[in-house]
Amino acid sequence: MREEKDYVIVTVSGQDRPGITAAFTNIIVAHNVEIVDIDQATLHDFLALSFLLDLTGSSRTKDSVLKDMLFEANRLEMRLNFQMRSEKEIPHKKDKKLFVLTVFGGTPVLAAVADLLGEHRANIEKISNLSLQSAECIELTIDTRNVTSLSGLKERLMTKSAELDIDLAFQSIEAYRKSKRLVVFDMDRTLIDTEVIDEMARAAGAYDEVSRVTEKAMRGDLDFEDSLRQRVAFLKGLKMSDVETIRDGLALSEGARELVDTLRRLGYRIGVVSGGFDVFADHLKETLGLDFAFANTLEVKNGVLTGRLSGDVIEDASKAKLVNRMAREMSILLDQTVAIGDGANDRLMLGQAGLGIAYNAHQALKRSASVTLGHKRLMNILYILGITEEDMQATSR
Ligand SMILES: [Mg+2]
Repeated sequence: MREEKDYVIVTVSGQDRPGITAAFTNIIVAHNVEIVDIDQATLHDFLALSFLLDLTGSSRTKDSVLKDMLFEANRLEMRLNFQMRSEKEIPHKKDKKLFVLTVFGGTPVLAAVADLLGEHRANIEKISNLSLQSAECIELTIDTRNVTSLSGLKERLMTKSAELDIDLAFQSIEAYRKSKRLVVFDMDRTLIDTEVIDEMARAAGAYDEVSRVTEKAMRGDLDFEDSLRQRVAFLKGLKMSDVETIRDGLALSEGARELVDTLRRLGYRIGVVSGGFDVFADHLKETLGLDFAFANTLEVKNGVLTGRLSGDVIEDASKAKLVNRMAREMSILLDQTVAIGDGANDRLMLGQAGLGIAYNAHQALKRSASVTLGHKRLMNILYILGITEEDMQATSR
């Protein structure tokens, strides 16, 4: 019969300084003991260093290694705690179902989220603070092994984020670890703060008619392509020079330029895929230095819009296909892609990407996303990608 294994968890805590890990690992090695697992956390200058040691075999070794470690802790004026564990009491790492939850907001928000996790029996394994000065952006690694309904937990978290008006991201740890390389933005009401077609309609004197249809389309109550053709028909007769005036006055969403600049400096590929028009998308590609832009083409005759589109229409499914195609062309895995959008016509694209982010979104889109971001909080995307405030400052130097 195989011998039952014998473990001990040893935690050393106290004032941090160089040489602590060396002191304890040398004792462990001298006793010929194996470290099965190790973890360390430091908060400012307070350290907690934990070892899981395999002490199967001689009880003499067990006593002497613990005695030497206690002695060393005393010498270093640190605290040492240990707990004996049998093999059964040590859960396998592979049994864990880990997720990463990024929470934006202060202490009360953290308390509310922690309550909810406890209620659903999700265990917090690790907590890191991604912000420098405060605890405004916290990353929690949670084990959901004992959670009965993962989708139930996710829905509660999303509802809570809407209730508290905070941003929240829930990602499986595998997806999170595959570092992202391609970020695709929707244009209207995502990268820019308006729905351009409404602006064009205003210039064409058909604002009410067009914005009513836009609203329905973005809620998902109308087929996108039909709704687009209907709206473009209202633009018949609008001069290209008027369109160019609107283009030159386009306002980016708050944080969009800083976000794109930081992502670019960090080596991400960035594109825009829009159900809007290429006059605007190409302009953004130029001004923001994007890698690509796809959008619909308005038919123009003698410097005037005809009220028709030329070429194939980019709708829900084609947006998703373009994310796929661009990732393939750039030799980037779909898991490494991020898509960000606000409308119902972004649902497929968000679902297709490794990470789908609903930005300032309609309820219908929020429900299917695993990340929701509020209006004007585009910069939070950096934290969700695991980029800390320190990284951001380092790249802007
Ligand atoms: Mg949009």
